[in-house]
Parts: sequence; C-alpha cells; structure tokens
Amino acid sequence: MKVPYINLGLQQANIMKELLNAAERVLGSGQFILGEEVDKFEKSFAELCQTRYSLGVANGTDALILSLKSLGIKEGDEVITAPNSFLASASSIALTGAVPVFADVKEDFNLDPDKVENAITPRTKAIIAVHLTGRPASMDELLEIAKKRGIAVIEDCAQAVGAEYKGKKVGGFGITGCFSLHPLKNLAASGDGGVITTNDEKIYRYLLKARNHGLKNRDECEFWGFNSRLDNLQAALLNIKMRYLDNSTIKRREIAKLYHKELNSLNLILPVEKKYEKSVYHTYIIQTDQRNQLKEYLAGKGIETKIHYPIPIHLQQAAKYLNYKKGDFPITEKQSETILSIPVYPELTNDEVTYIVRTIKEFFKSDNLK
Ligand SMILES: *Cc1c(COP(=O)(O)O)cnc(C)c1O
Repeated sequence: MKVPYINLGLQQANIMKELLNAAERVLGSGQFILGEEVDKFEKSFAELCQTRYSLGVANGTDALILSLKSLGIKEGDEVITAPNSFLASASSIALTGAVPVFADVKEDFNLDPDKVENAITPRTKAIIAVHLTGRPASMDELLEIAKKRGIAVIEDCAQAVGAEYKGKKVGGFGITGCFSLHPLKNLAASGDGGVITTNDEKIYRYLLKARNHGLKNRDECEFWGFNSRLDNLQAALLNIKMRYLDNSTIKRREIAKLYHKELNSLNLILPVEKKYEKSVYHTYIIQTDQRNQLKEYLAGKGIETKIHYPIPIHLQQAAKYLNYKKGDFPITEKQSETILSIPVYPELTNDEVTYIVRTIKEFFKSDNLK
C-alpha cells in the first residue's frame, strides 16, 4: 500500500464539479482582483472566527507583515516569536525592519509564557503567538503578560483555522489573527492566499488601504502600501471549500483520536489536547528518539511522513546575524530531532489509517530499534 503524506489532487477531485462551476462564473464575470467572491469569503470567514472583520490578502506571510505594519512596527523594535515555527513567523518580523527575538516552546510545541516574559525588553513591541500544528497557544497567559507590559499580541493562525481555546475560536484573541490559505493548509486555496481577522476598526481601516497600495479611493494614495490582495477566483474556490471545512476538521480529529487510541501504548510521545483546547490537527506529530529509523521504515513500507521542521529558525543561515547558537532553545532543538508528522488529512481511508497504525506498531516490535 502507498500512502502519500497529503493528496491535494484527490481533495479537489472530490468537489471538482462545484469548483469548475465557480471558476467558470468568475472567469465569465471578468472580475479578478478583489470582488464579490472576496467580499463573500471575508464575511463568512469573520463569522467562522467570530470576529468583527476579516480581509483577504495575498498569503499568510503578508498577513503577518501587514499586521506588524498596522502596529507601526519598524527598525529598532523587537518582536518575540517561536523558533520552532515555519520560518515566516520570523521573516515577517525581519522584513518590517524589526528584530525577531525567540523564546522557547513547551511540550505542546507552542510558546512558553515564562520564556516569553524573560525575553521582553524595553524595545519589545509585540508577540507573535503561533498556534502550531493546529493547537492553540497558551493565550490567557500570553495576553496577560502582553497587557502587563503594554505590548500587542498577533496570532499566527496559519495552521489553525477553526481551532478553539476555552470555547473561543483562534484569530479573535490578538489584535489580529493571520491565516494562510496555502494549498497545504486546512482551508486551502488552489494557489496562494491569506486572510487577516480583527475586532479593531482602526486596524481594519488601515489594513484595507495597506493591502491595496495605500489607496483611500481609486485615485488618492494616503501612504505607500502593498499590493497584497486575494484573487476573486481563489475566493470563489474558497467559498466552496468553506462548506466542507467543518466536516474535514471532524475527520482530522477522528483520525487523531484513533492514532491516540492505537499508539498510546508504544514508546512514543503523542499530542494530547488539554480539556479547554480544540486542535484542528494541521499536523499529527509523534515523537521518538528513533525518529530517523522510524521515518525510513515507514518510507520502506510506502508511508510518506514529514518533519515540521528539521532546522529551527534560530539555526537557519538567514538568522545568522541574530547571533543565536545551538543550545539556546533546548526544547525546540530536542523536538527538531524527535518529531515526525504522520498523514492526518480527511481524504485518508480507514484502510490507510489502519495500515499506518499497524506499520508503526510493527516497527516498535521489530529489531529496527537498534
Ligand atoms: C504556512 C505558514 C505561514 C506562511 O503562510 P504563507 O501563506 O505560505 O505565506 C506562516 N506561519 C505558519 C505557522 C505557517 O504554517
């Protein structure tokens, strides 16, 4: 049996007719940049996240950059984020001219509030809290620290559309929530896309202009802005995919539950939600000291896995000028050597899930452990 890590072709094929109808409608309308489908998407996305506003942008990285810009973050400022995230959580900070400052994470792969507090300096302007793997970060603690120090919290929700913390959707805790609609994310465009949520009207008004050249109307430019808009065509496809999001989250959670039940007795660290967390399992990450052997064993049996992420951001060449070194973030670094993402997408069949479980059990029973 062959199980790919993800099957994007199948994801579209299942709803191809609806997608093609929507595409045909938009192509015929001639409305390509922003437009009615974008308006409709923004409305339903804000509803989904229980926020007052949402606005489409070109990608998740731009959602972060524009959010930082909306707070006036610039050269000389510092912004704290997690070193185990996808690198855009940090590059977005650097691209505004500010300095990315890292704080280590906890066993849940999310920022450790104590470490964040220790990293705050008089130059700190914001925290980017990442809900990595689709599991919410410790928002109560992070918001309290931020409030006490008078700094802002931006949520990086790129992996966490629909996730909940204490009964409330992510994207509504920080000054903004930044989502990616990249094909690999849980709510996926068929190309690049992003969306920002906020409850703050002033920030919303700024972002509307900032994503569109700083224009306040067709002819008048208030400030130098970005060209970072969501396509009407992508929005039309997303409006279809939105209808399937709840079901696909339910399916991801069912698979995660089954993994937990079946793998719990093995010598593995599994992700376990707290009672007040609802993860959307963008990734299902298991941890073992035999990670590389297990990855290879599964590959030999046709099961594709990934590592999110093998090189922490502070050890990337791009981060060299920040002068971090190996040993600075022991939990992140240790996790980078033990983590393995196994397939968890809604299109997986029961047989495939059973095969994955059986093969992992086989590995731990066999001599592959040496
Ligand atoms: C994917 C991702 C981003 C960037 O989103 P793009 O749409 O690819 O620009 C940022 N942060 C995290 C945590 C991500 O997973």
